[in-house]
Parts: sequence; C-alpha cells; structure tokens
Amino acid sequence: MTKIRLLDPRLANQIAAGEVVERPASVVKELLENSLDAGARRIELDIEEGGVKLIRVRDDGAGIAEDDLPLALSRHATSKISVLEDLESVASLGFRGEALASISSVSRLCLSTSQEGSVSGWSARSEGRDMETVLAPVGHPRGTTVEVRDLFFNTPARRKFLRTEKTEFNHLEEVVKRQALSRYDVGFSLRHNGRAVHSLKPADSQLEQERRLAAVCGPAFMEQALFIDREAVGLRLWGWVALPSFSRSQADLQHFYVNGRYVRDRLVVHAVRQAYRDVLFHGRHPAFVLYLELAPAAVDVNVHPTKHEVRFRDGRTVHDFIFRTLHKVLADVRPDTVPQQAA
Ligand code: ADP
Ligand code: MG
Repeated sequence: MTKIRLLDPRLANQIAAGEVVERPASVVKELLENSLDAGARRIELDIEEGGVKLIRVRDDGAGIAEDDLPLALSRHATSKISVLEDLESVASLGFRGEALASISSVSRLCLSTSQEGSVSGWSARSEGRDMETVLAPVGHPRGTTVEVRDLFFNTPARRKFLRTEKTEFNHLEEVVKRQALSRYDVGFSLRHNGRAVHSLKPADSQLEQERRLAAVCGPAFMEQALFIDREAVGLRLWGWVALPSFSRSQADLQHFYVNGRYVRDRLVVHAVRQAYRDVLFHGRHPAFVLYLELAPAAVDVNVHPTKHEVRFRDGRTVHDFIFRTLHKVLADVRPDTVPQQAA
C-alpha cells in the first residue's frame, strides 16, 4: 500500500462524473435543466456526431455574473440552495452544483455568458488537472452558451461504452423531447450535423400545446389521447392519456412529470399500469403524458444523482389518487370494458 493522498480536483470530478455523465444525452439533460433554471424562454441545441464531437446549448436566460463564473465550474457550487432546509422546497431542477464540474472534467467545455445590463460578456474554460478556470471577455447577448466538445476524450474507458452516432443521438433527442413536454412556454430547437430536427415554438394555448405534443409523440397519439385534469387531496393530475385502442408494444411513450420534473418512478408506473390493467391486452403498454403537481415538501427529489427517482412523503395517497383518477377516466370511456372496482 502507498500513502494516503488527496485526489487532484480533476480526478475527483471525473469520478463524480461517473454518476451523472453517462453519455451525450446526460450532458444535454444537465445543460437543459440549467437553461430552464435560468429562466430561458428559448433554447437552441446544436449537436455534431451524436453529441460526442459537439454539444452546444444556447439560452436567453439570466446569465452568470463575471465574479460567479469561476465558481460555476467548480464542484459543490450552486446558486440554487444554501441551507439544508432549502432542499425541502426546492423548485429548481438543479441544486447539487455538480453538473458543470463533472462535464468539464471529461470534455473540453467552454461557457460564454452575459447578464442584462453588463458591459461585456465573459467566457470561461477550465483546463488542466487543477481545474482552474480561465476567463476572457467575449461578445454574447443576454444568456448563456455552453459548448461541450470531445466528450470522454480523456477517459477512454468511458468513451468505449458509447454506441453508434445514431443511437447516441436518439437518446439525446429523447431527452430534448422530455424537456420540451415539461415546459410548453419555452421554445426548443434541435439541430444535428447542421440539419434541423425539431423546432418547437413556445406554446400558450391548449391547441398549441397539443400541436407540440403531436410533433413530439406523433399525430396518432394525439388523435387517440384524452385530456384530463383532476384535483383532490392536495394533488393535481393533468395531461393526456391514450385510449386503450392506442397501446404500444413497448413502454416507450410514457412521460410522467412530478412538479415539472421528468421521473421514472416505480410507484407511479405501478399505479398507471393498474388503472389500464383491465382495458389493455396482456403485453401491451399504455401511452401517456401526465403531470402530477403537489406541495414541494411532499416529495423528496434528492434520491438519486440524476434525480429520475423521487420519494413521496405519502406514497400510498399518491398511488391511490393516480390509480383512481385514471381508472375513472378509462371507465367513463369504455364502461363495457372496465369492471367497477370496490372503492
Ligand atoms: P446546479 O444546477 O446543481 O446548481 P451546475 O453545475 O449545473 O449546478 O451549475 C452551477 C451553477 O452555474 C448554477 O447554480 C448556476 O448558478 C450557474 N449556471 C449554470 N448554467 C447556467 C445557465 N445556462 N444560465 C445561468 N446560470 C447557469
Ligand atoms: Mg445544473
């Protein structure tokens, strides 16, 4: 055994990156969340070679102050929470202060930003093992652009796990779609190798929202989807559920959001599956885009680094509410096929 030493900051960040940065899609998820947290109304993504060569996310959000910039790229640095209690009511998508540090430790990252009323914009790069940030003035409209090049160039073991350009891009596109369905008021555009893939304008009315849904989930889903909106016991469930006549062979069209955050939660999946159980053939999967809203303190989002899992304070009530709401909706549509269940 050799002596105990502190890891150098880049290595420490690279190890932490293992948890949040699995592939280009995870980078896009973190960058989109940051843009949304900054209050962006328009977000443009430029991708090259499935995101391995380049991921560029440009937003028109609040930007970062010059003296905050070095911190933005360091680990455990965040503007979103400051005391433990903040976690209980956290409304932002981020709060761990790890994403930019992690991403910059396994790529060539350049962040350019400018705030309303500031004379000049600034760019920040972090290079070298000590992760020291190099600042330079740069022209940039209000907002922030993050460029991530050559993902995993310095971690060959990670790079080896990447799939084909097409597969990586598909994962990445899925992340963009998810976020696009979480914020209809924000415009999203996605380009891949110079070609426009999605261009989604901000959608205010329900009609425009449904147009975005059709663009993201396909027109067939939209034609067969029912809009629902129910509220009870401090919970609200709204969104679109496909009729049993539109089922899928895979569970690939299931979007569930808790307070605006996309989640894949076992309790939720179970509640929805139960509600559809009697109206779908065995082996078929329901399609839905659903939003659950509840008091922030009633749900813990700090369960997993990617925040895809949540823990409800009263899981049973949440499960029952989702199940009952959907079961009733489906029963109203197909009274002949949904046997009434005892309350
Ligand atoms: P977290 O999002 O958990 O706070 P990040 O590492 O993702 O941690 O970001 C660190 C900080 O950098 C954020 O708290 C925020 O203040 C700032 N930041 C990152 N991206 C943006 C952006 N697009 N616009 C404005 N500020 C940003
Ligand atoms: Mg973040």
